[in-house]
Amino acid sequence: MGSSPETKLLVIVGAGASGMLAAVSARQAARGLGIADAGLRIVLLERNTRPGAKIAISGGGHCNVTHDGPVDRLLEKGFLRKNELRFVRPSVYAFTNSDLLALLARYGVPTEAREDGRVFPVSGAARDVLDAIRRMLRDASAEVATGCRVDALEASGDGFVLRAGAERIEADAVILAAGGSAWGSSGTTGDGVRLAASVGHSVVTVLPALAPVFFKEPPDPGLVGVTLRGVGLVAGSGKQSDMRRGDLLISHRGISGPACLSLSRPVAAMMAGGGEAPALFADFFPGHDEPAVSAFVLDHSSRNGAQLVRTFLQRCPIAPERLFPATRKEDAVGATIPNAFVPWILRRAGIGEGQMLSMLTRQQRTGLVSVLKRFELGRARKVPLDRAEVSAGGVSLSEIDPRTMASRLHRRLFCCGELLDYAGEVGGFNLQAAFSTGWAAGSNAALSLCGSRSAGA
Ligand SMILES: Cc1cc2nc3c(=O)[nH]c(=O)nc-3n(C[C@H](O)[C@H](O)[C@H](O)COP(=O)(O)OP(=O)(O)OC[C@H]3O[C@@H](n4cnc5c(N)ncnc54)[C@H](O)[C@@H]3O)c2cc1C
Repeated sequence: MGSSPETKLLVIVGAGASGMLAAVSARQAARGLGIADAGLRIVLLERNTRPGAKIAISGGGHCNVTHDGPVDRLLEKGFLRKNELRFVRPSVYAFTNSDLLALLARYGVPTEAREDGRVFPVSGAARDVLDAIRRMLRDASAEVATGCRVDALEASGDGFVLRAGAERIEADAVILAAGGSAWGSSGTTGDGVRLAASVGHSVVTVLPALAPVFFKEPPDPGLVGVTLRGVGLVAGSGKQSDMRRGDLLISHRGISGPACLSLSRPVAAMMAGGGEAPALFADFFPGHDEPAVSAFVLDHSSRNGAQLVRTFLQRCPIAPERLFPATRKEDAVGATIPNAFVPWILRRAGIGEGQMLSMLTRQQRTGLVSVLKRFELGRARKVPLDRAEVSAGGVSLSEIDPRTMASRLHRRLFCCGELLDYAGEVGGFNLQAAFSTGWAAGSNAALSLCGSRSAGA
């Protein structure tokens, strides 16, 4: 890979969301400094045969590109850990969700926000987002070498030497944008983190996040495919416990759905701790304590004593905001405890199928309430990294400047995207973080090579 002595070479490892936007912003920054394209060669090295594999499969092929709303709100919803939020904040402010959507619109991809804040291309096609980014790369005169897996990185003077199979590449600056370790079939098997570690960066243990949880004992076939709406999902192992609220899906091997995806990272952390396998519980009345739920059951049975407990449960609102009055119209038409769960609740509470509410003993009522508040779904066996949407852990944030994405160990080494030790929630936050950190890395890498004026989005 030869360049003339006056030409600087910026190599970006990985042509995913962060790497491609890094190339676009690097060119914009260089042109902003009056540097001719021939003065800065921008080359993306991508191990796959095509760039952007993850964008193509994101959001089930629809690509949830970002999240709507003010940046502070986006960050709060998307990044639950304060240190990670603080880290991504400067880059997301420098290249916001609005900046991203304006850029996509300029390249012919209008987007729309859904009621829950997730933003998708109007066409619903991830391909359109990817094609637009490819056109951006063309306009940025960025070269993409596919089928090129970087397997070694060494610091050499002010620059770097990279190796990809038999090829040796001397670069003036390097951006590591090789993604995390999740969903390895798309090309992300932790190479970026390994390359950063090989030049001295500390690595925080990689864990799956936004993943299903597989159980030791698979769920009963009768429960598979059932969704529990808005419930609390609690994971507990020894003294550790964590909780999320949202929809939950029972699968053949365990659980999935938004609440599970969000809780999977703490579950994986509990498992990595080597303690007892975490148990997962559903809380059918999140936000209401046991005495309140007990009063609710008692109130209902005092007015409907002849009703079977089974019928009560089948009509019982699931995860209601308010418990009283029990006959509220909204509750009557809202989601109820799924029928498939009712025999299980009765059995675990020791209540017969034909038992009436008026015949419930105090002990049975207490038992019923505790099952409703803590219904054990299963014990975790595995949180599969190859089925996780993202990985947590990676290059330690303390060694990266959050404004520029520059390594604090090597001038002219930049790291961006999922290989860094952050993980966002489901909702477009991970792509936004990849685009924003990539944008910051690209513009600042170009500045470090071509000048010292400050780069904006
Ligand atoms: C199934 C699925 C659905 C998702 N849906 C969404 C969604 O809708 N919204 C959202 O916000 N997030 C979503 N995500 C997460 C999001 O796609 C990622 O967080 C984001 O793509 C990370 O960007 P990145 O640039 O860091 O890494 P990636 O986009 O993963 O790109 C890294 C690139 O580096 C390449 N590479 C790796 N190693 C090497 C090497 N040694 N040499 C050369 N190239 C290499 C890889 O092949 C890859 O192309 C989803 C993830 C998955 C798996």
